[in-house]
Amino acid sequence: METERALAELTALIKRAHVLGTIGDILGWDEQVNLPPGAAEQRASQHAALAEVVHAAGAAPRIGELLAVLEARAGTLAAEQRAVVAQARRDYDRATRLPPEFVREKAAQGSRGFHAWARAKAADDFASYAPVLERNVELARREAAYLGRGDAPYDHALDKHDPGLTAAAVERLFAELKRDLVPLVREITGSPVAARARAAAARLKGFPVEAQRVFLREVTARLGFDYQRGRIDVSLHPFCSGTGSDVRMTTRYNEDQPLDALFSSIHETGHGLYEQGLPAEHLGTALGINAGMAVHESQSRLWENQVARSREFWRCFEPRWRELFGSRTEVVDSEELYLAVNAVEPTLIRVEADEVTYNLHIILRFELEKALFAGTLAVRDLPGAWRAAAKELLGLEPADDRTGVLQDVHWSDGSFGYFPSYCLGNMIAAQLWARVRQLRPGLEAEFARGDFGWLLDWLRENVHRQARRQGTLELVRNVTGEELSPRHLIAYLRERYGALYLAGR
Ligand code: ZN
Repeated sequence: METERALAELTALIKRAHVLGTIGDILGWDEQVNLPPGAAEQRASQHAALAEVVHAAGAAPRIGELLAVLEARAGTLAAEQRAVVAQARRDYDRATRLPPEFVREKAAQGSRGFHAWARAKAADDFASYAPVLERNVELARREAAYLGRGDAPYDHALDKHDPGLTAAAVERLFAELKRDLVPLVREITGSPVAARARAAAARLKGFPVEAQRVFLREVTARLGFDYQRGRIDVSLHPFCSGTGSDVRMTTRYNEDQPLDALFSSIHETGHGLYEQGLPAEHLGTALGINAGMAVHESQSRLWENQVARSREFWRCFEPRWRELFGSRTEVVDSEELYLAVNAVEPTLIRVEADEVTYNLHIILRFELEKALFAGTLAVRDLPGAWRAAAKELLGLEPADDRTGVLQDVHWSDGSFGYFPSYCLGNMIAAQLWARVRQLRPGLEAEFARGDFGWLLDWLRENVHRQARRQGTLELVRNVTGEELSPRHLIAYLRERYGALYLAGR
């Protein structure tokens, strides 16, 4: 009885802290979608004040007392209860071991960092941004030290996003991927089809923004995104935030790159479907929060790539696409449209990269982050190191920092250890895809009829509703029946892109 009471009280306290945290999500969304440029400092102070309140709620001594009671009875707890307690312990340690003044400083620095990055990127001025980045690395190191991981600050940064992950584990997975991917990229880009695909994509120009907005809304709603419980707006860098019945996605429009807004919206829809699929009654506890960023990315990638770049997806949506955009679409036939959707071309910009070369962008960032934290690379040397790595991995060298080290928002608020999640997400998506095709032969034929329900239901049950009952690697093992490996990603890329680019060779 005491166990039940303690668990109920603990759950209520955790959920309250989570609700307060979601207010910060809305402030963050508003900052990137609506905020007047002159309001940055004011928003920074709002973030800082709220961070204090959130911190106090999560660090309430009563949570510590309840955790002690429940941990003493761990043997009598059911598996779900143990998962709730373990996650609560993780959050509580994080909340109580970080001094309030540190939390305040980090929140304000994150907000200032975002605006400093936006200005530096616009002016191609890395020098003005370098001190911000140095400060962010220092804060990340201090955070790791407060949490007892001062010896391995980068492991700590990874574990924050994906519970249990280490630099060594990521390095092993990435090394195997790099070994097979680099020659595959060379084969594909060396194919004469590559130029035809790029030319087809380049002919898609002058697609009015309003029609793009209509089309991507129809597509994302058909995939299952519930617009009664979410919305989509415009921001500099597309993202998805919020959870449960208030999920905020963003995209950005370019009339001459009409596939960009569409695919970034489908990507964010994958994130949104995951958040909308978490068990509402458990929001905030381990039974109602996402498993981590790699699993999150697996959901966005699965919808964006495995689903929306398939022939069957386009069999469903091509007629409507031609209807909405009319004469603009006459520059490609169906085969050329499919090629344009699956065009492969090494580019300097990660968010514009195709799904084949994308992983090389992540390996680049992982290697630089690891070196920054190991102390073998100084912030001031980042632009040069970036150029060298881009040349080695992508065969391209950025002419300026805007298309090099300044292109991504992530480091501006200290989100180190986040990038690897994207590539791990690709691996997990491919492994889930192999599994669902085994379970449901003919799945893609359902896409051609506009029916995505079986796939969404399967993901709801096997991934979304599992929430954070288990760690990332354990979830992958339980759902797919094997350890996480890059081989499914390589096999998927070979199957889809091999058929297009390497057939008959
Ligand atoms: Zn994403």
